Amino acid sequence: MENVVIIGSGCAGWTAALYTARANLKPLLLTGEQPGGLLTTTSIVENYPGFPEGIDGTDLMMRMQKQAERFGTQTRYGVTVTKVDFSRPPFQLWLDEEIIKTRSVIIATGASHRRLGIENEELLGRKGVTYCATCDGALPMFRNKELVVVGGGDSACEEATYLTHFASKVYLVHRRDQLRASKIMAERALSNSKIQPVWDSVVTDVYDVSKDMVTGVQLKNLKTGAASDLSCAGVFVAIGHEPSTGLFRGQIDMDDQGYIVCRKGTSTNVLGVFAAGDCVDRVYRQAITAAGTGCAAAIDAERYLASQRG
Ligand code: NAP
Repeated sequence: MENVVIIGSGCAGWTAALYTARANLKPLLLTGEQPGGLLTTTSIVENYPGFPEGIDGTDLMMRMQKQAERFGTQTRYGVTVTKVDFSRPPFQLWLDEEIIKTRSVIIATGASHRRLGIENEELLGRKGVTYCATCDGALPMFRNKELVVVGGGDSACEEATYLTHFASKVYLVHRRDQLRASKIMAERALSNSKIQPVWDSVVTDVYDVSKDMVTGVQLKNLKTGAASDLSCAGVFVAIGHEPSTGLFRGQIDMDDQGYIVCRKGTSTNVLGVFAAGDCVDRVYRQAITAAGTGCAAAIDAERYLASQRG
């Protein structure tokens, strides 16, 4: 029987592990399929306090892991929870056939990339459609080619700027005529001579499934309704994220977009189950806020366990 199982290995998960480990609870952390979470798909993190020069996202996550493990966190790598039963304690988590029983749970499953929702987007996945410039941007298929980045937030600006190191030109396709990104990121992107914004437009199709590679996109101008084609060798989708909470549907209260609803700190509707990070946060979604709520969830879990011991 575990004291506390942490599901997820992003900033929230590792911070919860650090704090519960230092409370001598010997937490078990299940990393999920993408150890380190979304931060491992970004390049330099410039807004995490304490790193004035910035820090590589994967490096930051590895440091958090090392710190959590130093105090006794038990880690299971690459394992994914397939089913949960939170109907009564001890709670049960399934890793396929294996069942883990625990007195408390911290859900820190984060979020995953939002998709355009176009059929060819799926068919051309890994053949030119991607959700991570830092993972895929340097691939030979994108070098010295014209590329499309979709989105108007920090991610889109960051990805577009990063891709200019490899691409001959980057089109930044955004559905409005104003970027959502922070001023510094927006200015960095718009002042780059290799980046050309395409305003008020959405991608309505990706070509060419018959060639098994991306050759271009179909765009629709939302103001005029006009359709047009744009040649490109890659489509980098950076239109935000969706909480990874499907596993808990029916057991944990969520809002209409699948974000977990917490009441009183990090407590969910199930006593003994806590949630932290991007699976809860639809507003801030920053590495530092995820780490902060991971800390809060650990303290809440520790107090809950102490109250159960009487
Ligand atoms: P975001 O801020 O939610 O931006 C998503 C963008 O995609 C918006 O411009 C949105 O358009 C557009 N969009 C959403 N759905 C769309 C659809 N179906 N079709 C076309 N466009 C669509 O997401 P994000 O850029 O991933 O950023 C998430 C959080 O991480 C933010 O808090 C951001 O500050 C942070 N972040 C920080 C850094 C950094 O500081 N290094 C880097 C990346 C991300 P609208 O603008 O019209 O809504």
